[in-house]
This record gives sequence, C-alpha cells and structure tokens, in this order.
Amino acid sequence: MISIEEALTKILAEVSKSNLESVPLAESLGRILAGDVKADRDYPPFHRSAMDGYAIKSKDFDPSKIYHCKKEIFAGMESKLDPGEEIVKIMTGAVVPEGLDAVVKIEDSQEIESGNPISKVKLKSDQAFQFMNIALQGEDLKKGELVIGSGTVIGMSEISLLASLGFDIVPVRTLPKVSIISTGNEVVSVGSKPLPYQIRDSNSYSLIAILNRYKIQPNSIELVPDDELKITEALQKGLESDILLLSGGVSMGSMDLIPPLLEKLGVKKIFHKVSLKPGKPIWFGKKGKTVVFGLPGNPFSVQVCARIFLDPYIRSYLGMEISRPLRFPFYGKRKKKNSLPEFFPVIFETREKTGLRAKSFNGSGDIRAGLSSDGIALHPGEQSEISEEDILDFYPW
Ligand code: AMP
Ligand code: MG
Repeated sequence: MISIEEALTKILAEVSKSNLESVPLAESLGRILAGDVKADRDYPPFHRSAMDGYAIKSKDFDPSKIYHCKKEIFAGMESKLDPGEEIVKIMTGAVVPEGLDAVVKIEDSQEIESGNPISKVKLKSDQAFQFMNIALQGEDLKKGELVIGSGTVIGMSEISLLASLGFDIVPVRTLPKVSIISTGNEVVSVGSKPLPYQIRDSNSYSLIAILNRYKIQPNSIELVPDDELKITEALQKGLESDILLLSGGVSMGSMDLIPPLLEKLGVKKIFHKVSLKPGKPIWFGKKGKTVVFGLPGNPFSVQVCARIFLDPYIRSYLGMEISRPLRFPFYGKRKKKNSLPEFFPVIFETREKTGLRAKSFNGSGDIRAGLSSDGIALHPGEQSEISEEDILDFYPW
C-alpha cells in the first residue's frame, strides 16, 4: 500500500493544465489569474497630496509669515504654479504642483483674511520638511513592476488592484469539466423520502463544496445503483469530463464494482488503496485527459479524501500553488489502534498559543464528523499515541 505522499505525487503527475480565457472584471472574483500582472504606470501616478491643507516650498517654511494664497487645487484637476506663486490650498488626492514639496494640514493653518482672489494664511505647524504629507509618484509601484503573479486567486484586494490597473477584462484559467457519480443501491436523492434501509446522498454535496471554492460547477451529478450495466453507462458518460468523481463501491465488498468496471472501460489504474484512515480504499486512474477519483462511500472518508487528494489536484490544474499543511500544537491526548496514519477533525483552541483540540466523532460513517471543526489533523502512522503539545500537521478545510 502506498503512502499519502506517494499517492499525492502520483496524482500530481497526472495533472493536465487548464487553458486561458478572458472574463469581465466583475465576474473574475474567485477565479485564478492566468498570467503575471504588471503596473501600467507609476502609482501614485503623480505626487499626491495626502491631506487637505496648504502646499508650500519646505525650505521657505516660516510659521511667523503671512502667506498670500490665491488658488485651490482639487483632486481631478491639473495643477500648475503661476510665476511667483509660493503657496496653494490643496485637497487630498490632488496633484502637488511642480515647485512645491510639502503639505501643511488644514488643522495647522489659520486663515487671517479670507479673500477673493487672495486669502491670507499663517501656518502653525512645528515644521515642514520635504515631501511632508505627500505620497510620491511611484512610491507604491513603479511602471512595469510585477504586482500579482499568475496563479493567484482573485479576491477583494486583487480585483481592486486589477481595476486600478485598467483590467476591464481579466485573463483567468479555464475551469475543468467535472462529473460526479454516487453509487450504491441504498443511496437516494436528497429530495426523496428514504425507506428505512436507504440513505440520502450527501457525498455529492461534499464534493460540490470543494469544487465551488474554485468556482467550478459540476456538469452532472448522478446517482447509480450497484448494477454493472447502469454503472458502465454512467461511467462512459462521466469519462467525457476532465475530472470524474465517484463515491462508493471501491472497497472489498461484493457490491464494490467500480474498480473492475473502470479498468474494463480502459481507465488505467494508477493506484488503489492508500495507507490512511479514513479513505484507505481510494482508487485513482486516468483515461486520455480524464482523471478518475474513486472515493470510498463513507461521508467523512469522502471529505478527507477530497481535502487531501482532490483539492491539490484542482489547485495544480488551475496553476495554483499546492497548499502545504500548517503545524500546530495538539491540546489533549489521542490513541489509535492500528499503524495507519489517521486524519481526525480538530477545533482551534487558543490558550497562550493557538493549538488543536480533537473533536469526538463516531468514525468515518458519522454524518456529523466534520461539523463545526476547523480542519483535520494527522495522527502519524508510527505513533500509537499523541500527547499534549505534540506538533501536528493541520489541514484547514
Ligand atoms: P461503500 O464505499 O459503497 O461501501 O459505502 C460505504 C458507506 O458509505 C455505506 O454505509 C454507504 O451507505 C455510505 N454511502 C455511500 N454512498 C453515499 C453517498 N453518496 N452519500 C452518503 N453516504 C454514502
Ligand atoms: Mg456501496
């Protein structure tokens, strides 16, 4: 049986990369940037006043002097000094005119005489130094500088920056076509009233939850009974997608029909079974451009396998970095019986440091296992017991 790391390496070796498409800026949130973004000009594009006040020459500053001011400059205006002019009233966001280099804020000024066109003011500031209260041209970004790297998720700061840089259309990665098939004679749709021996399909929705993070909507969601013909038909259709996600039917039971049927359809098995709990029976393979994840049916197994194996595949497909586990101390004690590495749901607990507390659950079939947990932690295979302050790998959901 291969290890989690080996399985992940094999999965990532099969990634076919997505393409590039353009979307309107307002629709780009949550999508993945395809291509580096560089500054189209300096930012700020001009010496910008950071305050409402008076712009002067710093070296001529004199708090006892009465200045004669005849002009007010607002944001959105061109600004230029007339010959002999040594002060202008200026508003936040306005261009500081060439020849002036400090802004004394309005609170530090006193208007002695307001007049049209000339008002008389005194500046009571303690000092005025070069570039006081001025955001210098190019201090945030220089023209041509790399601002956002390819593979970045477009969130609030990114979309704001893209708008500043004039990207009304944004190059993003295309999303994969994904099909979901849940198998099992007992599995019925969410809207139906289950008979006593039936259960509602929840796995499809766990998978949708991971997909939706990346703005992926599945092309199809199907429920199929444990029937060779029906499964074969569903698989044939599902194999037209880029990613086929199956749940149920990959263990050793007599109704676990998925692996042989996939191989019959020409899907090459890359691995079956990984040394982990829950999710040991996971099957992974590929046919042409389509990768197939055969996940075991238990709800918590699906959630763990989706987080540990599917999420990195999607990230890599979209040209993103794979998220590495975080490391946190464990608060408590935990024992396990077998030698498999074991994922378990955890909740953040903040003492002096933030650590992880185990959430109790009844095993991989417990529909509440992950509820209100912050993620999953890994109990290493070789350790039968983990104790207070042991540092664990933590995977946020
Ligand atoms: P299997 O991997 O097919 O042996 O299924 C293992 C367990 O997961 C069984 O108890 C199934 O009833 C349950 N199960 C299978 N598919 C689903 C599903 N789509 N939603 C919720 N539970 C499921
Ligand atoms: Mg089954």
